Amino acid sequence: MSCSQPLVDAFNRRISYLRLSVTDRCDLRCSYCMPERMTFLPKKEVLSLEELHKLGLAFIERGISKIRLTGGEPLVRRDVIELVQALGRKLGDGLEELTLTTNGTRLAEFAQPLFDAGVRRVNVSLDTMDPVLFETLSRRDRLNDVLRGIAEARRVGLAVKINTVALKGLNEDEIPFLVEWAGSHEHDLTLIEVMPLGEVEGERVEHYLPLTAVRDVLDARFTLTDIPDRTGGPARYVRVAETGARLGFITPLTNNFCASCNRIRLTATGQLYACLGGSEQVDLRAALRSADPYANVAQALDEAMRIKPERHHFRIAEGAGPAQSRHMSVTGG
Ligand code: SAM
Ligand code: SF4
Repeated sequence: MSCSQPLVDAFNRRISYLRLSVTDRCDLRCSYCMPERMTFLPKKEVLSLEELHKLGLAFIERGISKIRLTGGEPLVRRDVIELVQALGRKLGDGLEELTLTTNGTRLAEFAQPLFDAGVRRVNVSLDTMDPVLFETLSRRDRLNDVLRGIAEARRVGLAVKINTVALKGLNEDEIPFLVEWAGSHEHDLTLIEVMPLGEVEGERVEHYLPLTAVRDVLDARFTLTDIPDRTGGPARYVRVAETGARLGFITPLTNNFCASCNRIRLTATGQLYACLGGSEQVDLRAALRSADPYANVAQALDEAMRIKPERHHFRIAEGAGPAQSRHMSVTGG
């Protein structure tokens, strides 16, 4: 098999999108994502930026055309901008898009360098505009930094999509306001159902809010029209007539979207996960550090295609525990 053969899994899905986690560390502690006292991956196991770059190039050679840097919080990794710049040089040469998902706390500082490196869109996670709830949810008082980051991103020319996890009894009542706020600032907004990944303090099920219920509430307040847009991800979109903005729904629990899955996820330690909800993985760090990295990475990628499952089996229920012990901060969502 040629090493430049496109990545196609056993269910004939063409894999063209890589989520690349550059660190699992974070400067926030969102309560649905991780506990306050989080055990992070051992630093010595984390790939160097040069190794992440080499793997990035190997993926691009196999037809990955979109890379999203994520984490943990990607902007807390020292010198991460060097990786963005190095991968950015592949834009127009195999790579079509380089993006980033961030909590926004350091975006004000990084917006311009990101833009200069070729990034044109960022996703910023923001669950509330209420400073008190923000601090309760993220266990840190950083809302102002995030809002400054969003404003600076727009100023330098980055499109901003807001990601909001819908949480029953927490930001539930604020969601219509967030729809209005995002629309009036010309940010797309995507709502996400909370997923059972990794142990956290408390029961996630208590705050699980099915987006079917949110859609009913929003339908009563706004004129929502389904639109066929796809951004290479699992979101389904509507247009909000009142604001003109796009609103996305990511519904892993209420509406499984695996049939059109085009993505794989690499952790900061070089483990390639074939599915966010599964444990199927290959070790690209071992392949990269072997005597014949070129052949062994190619072989590991073929293996990942062979083991990628048809679908995830998330289920959220009281006492059921997480579907995977791995936190979202390891694979970056
Ligand atoms: N730190 C960055 C951020 O927050 O945008 C990037 C990594 S974070 C893990 C990526 C996304 O996953 C965020 O939008 C976050 O809200 C979401 N997330 C984290 N844990 C989740 C969970 N258990 N269920 C659903 N979404 C989750
Ligand atoms: Fe950090 Fe993102 Fe997880 Fe929040 S969701 S704790 S910002 S990794």
